[in-house]
Amino acid sequence: MQDLYEEKKTKSFNFFLLIAAIPIAGVIIIFSIMAKNRQDKIEFTKLELCGIEVIAEIQKSVLDIQKIRALTSIENPNSDTLKKLEIKKEDILKGMNLIESKLSKIDDSITLKKELLSFIKFIKDSKLDSLNFDELTQIVENLTSYSSRISYHSKLILDENLDIFVLVNNVVFLFVELIEHNGQIRGVAVNTTNGNIDFNQRHKIIMRLDKIDDKLKKLDLNLFLLGEVAYANKLKESYEDMKEAQRVIIDFTNNELLRDDAIAVDSNGIYEQITKNIDSVIALYEINLNLLRENLEKKLKENQKSLIFIAIFGFLSIMFVIIINRIFYLNNRKYIDKIEELTITDGMTSLYNRRYFDEIFDNYLRSNQRTKQVPVFIIMDIDHFKEYNDTYGHQAGDVAIKIVSKVMKTFLKRATDMAFRLGGEEFGILCSGINAIEALHLAHDIRKGIENEKIEHKSSKVNEYLTISIGIIVIEEGKINSTKEIYRCADKALYKAKENGRNQAVLYDAKMFCDD
Ligand code: GH3
Ligand code: MG
Ligand code: MG
Repeated sequence: MQDLYEEKKTKSFNFFLLIAAIPIAGVIIIFSIMAKNRQDKIEFTKLELCGIEVIAEIQKSVLDIQKIRALTSIENPNSDTLKKLEIKKEDILKGMNLIESKLSKIDDSITLKKELLSFIKFIKDSKLDSLNFDELTQIVENLTSYSSRISYHSKLILDENLDIFVLVNNVVFLFVELIEHNGQIRGVAVNTTNGNIDFNQRHKIIMRLDKIDDKLKKLDLNLFLLGEVAYANKLKESYEDMKEAQRVIIDFTNNELLRDDAIAVDSNGIYEQITKNIDSVIALYEINLNLLRENLEKKLKENQKSLIFIAIFGFLSIMFVIIINRIFYLNNRKYIDKIEELTITDGMTSLYNRRYFDEIFDNYLRSNQRTKQVPVFIIMDIDHFKEYNDTYGHQAGDVAIKIVSKVMKTFLKRATDMAFRLGGEEFGILCSGINAIEALHLAHDIRKGIENEKIEHKSSKVNEYLTISIGIIVIEEGKINSTKEIYRCADKALYKAKENGRNQAVLYDAKMFCDD
């Protein structure tokens, strides 16, 4: 009957799995969506960081080209200037190679990448120091335009975070333009050594000054937008320095360059002076760039951290669901087992009841057939029990029934042996793996065991103590098939035992009962 029990257990365990699987599936879906969302944000930020790296490299090269533009504008360059020119050319070449290597990480199919690469090739192939002011300006403008396109492509401009937006705006547009306006003034200034500045140049410079003014206002607004964030304070100080440097350039432009009676000054010196001032604008550009980079790296780390948290919480939630379900399942299992036990056992004797016997008898025979064991059915009935009740009372009768059950059980040692209370004072045993002789021995032992309990039974015509009669049937395969017939045959053997004088066991033999 182990089989039947196992089958029931497996069924209810499968049910437990089903009950647990539904919330677990829910948890997995919810946490997968959250994890996917985080993963997307991580990819997004990585793209932003990659964009910022390329933009930074482009801007470095732009600064060098701006310097070349100024240096080539100097009419009488000294040896120091010429040396600088050579160094800048080398720096640009290195810068271009660096941009190329950074771009190699980006998907080849992107048009922007292809365009930028071919422009880099163009720069590498050109003799930069032989290009004129406007041609170099064109290169600067093209590179700057690539920067802003990269910022769109790498989603920098789409970031919903205001701090990042302001920093991107500074790094990609405002400072870049501010430096370029100053660079153009420098270019014109170094070319104006004789103090003569034509109308066209004057107009250009005035326009640059207006634009510088406009950019400074925008930067003021950006700093205001950053409000009280920690790095806004860090920016403020260098911002003042930059404004001071800008004021020096504006004053120089107004007082020296645009003055009607401007006196001749040394171009190399002017280059040095304006470059020094432009450098403080560049310094602020770099601070902004680093803040932007730090901000993005912080965001990346936060997202990576929350991805780990999501994974941990997801795992814990699943464990929680499993544990809670398991607790409920085990509790339910306990009650179900108890209820099942109550429905299959007899309250008075704790033996299996008749209902359970009817339920499993057929199954028992079949499972023994499978394992090639010969099953044995033993039926027992207390002798003259009616008289016992009449003599000692019904209650004493109950006690006697309990004693008989207990004695009977002590002789059943194997897990597959089963004892039943089949009716009032009638009992049954199902066992297997024993032959007819062994079955007779077992019956004899039980009968003797009960007799040895010495339960007084004055009115018995058989013995001075309470006794039982036993019918045995060894169910050999193929001979008898239906459980009803087996039961009837065992009952016949029992009847024979009663007929022969009670307190004995009779083994069913077909020949013996052939007259029936
Ligand atoms: P035999 O030797 O032929 O079996 O005679 P018997 O008197 O045992 O047989 P019979 O079938 O005439 O009587 C069985 C009696 O068992 C009748 C009934 O009162 C008694 N009995 C059945 N169930 C219980 C029970 O749960 N408790 C008590 N005390 N008596 C019971
Ligand atoms: Mg009876
Ligand atoms: Mg009886």
